[in-house]
Amino acid sequence: MTGIVVLGSTNMDLVAYAARAPKLGETVTGRKFRTVPGGKGANQAVAAARAGGEVAMIGAVGEDEFGERLRHTLEASGVDTDLLRTVEGPSGTAHVVVDDEGSNAIVVVPGANGTVTHLVPGDETVIAAADTLLLQLELPLSAVRAGAGAARRHGVRTVLTPAPAQPLPPDLLASVDLLVPNEHEAATLTGIADAHGAAEALLRQVPEVVITLGAAGSLYAARGGRTLAVSAPAVEAVDTSAAGDTFVGALAVALGEGRPMPDAMRWASAAAALCVQRPGASTSMPYRTEIEA
Ligand code: ADP
Repeated sequence: MTGIVVLGSTNMDLVAYAARAPKLGETVTGRKFRTVPGGKGANQAVAAARAGGEVAMIGAVGEDEFGERLRHTLEASGVDTDLLRTVEGPSGTAHVVVDDEGSNAIVVVPGANGTVTHLVPGDETVIAAADTLLLQLELPLSAVRAGAGAARRHGVRTVLTPAPAQPLPPDLLASVDLLVPNEHEAATLTGIADAHGAAEALLRQVPEVVITLGAAGSLYAARGGRTLAVSAPAVEAVDTSAAGDTFVGALAVALGEGRPMPDAMRWASAAAALCVQRPGASTSMPYRTEIEA
């Protein structure tokens, strides 16, 4: 039995560092280039596996070198990739320019992720046997809905990271147990900038919400009025990419082990704080022994 199933995206991030991003029609010379395995789905899968979860990934990579490397990255952290399809055409890519201020401009090309429009035989069996299904919004919405529906039918806890933020159909929200937006996504979804206010609005649609607030920590709210603010450990952040995915992956592991929410959030905060102190995304996610320490 697999404790955590991630139905989500895999992307190779192609990152160019330059003094400034080019304007349309212009070419600038960069100073450095890196390829970084990512995609919110794969990041959450790696984070959960490193935090000690039994994790399986459902999604797709392309028939190219990026696809092989994305699959290998998952497997190297112990993620089961039997249900990760290899499909014709390119893998998902994110073309990123980071300027000297640290601001970035990104073009995402879904590639293989765009072919994941529905569940295939075998997916539902694995979801049914899981404790938790992790979803994000980087796959076609039809697949996210199908995954949430399958989880609901089998009583599997569904955790949705609503990123990139977009209007969510009520039937999808009806199948979500826990929504984990960051503060920007929460504001986009509700039109309310204040996190407490946004949480209250979101509770009309889902039973539990955790809003992540960057260095300010995270806020939990449940129907019935229970709320809880957890502060983030004070650390020197060098790269906050994938902080949210690390938080969600670790949170899912802790909840799956039956830990109460306050405990699980503190554990997830410790994992995310370790992630932001190191450069990189999937490469910077901590292992269980480090989180425990
Ligand atoms: P996202 O990466 O999705 O934008 P956040 O920026 O809200 O999400 O970060 C997710 C979690 O990571 C936070 O709730 C917090 O626990 C942790 N975190 C993020 N930035 C920092 C930081 N500078 N110092 C400590 N923890 C951080």
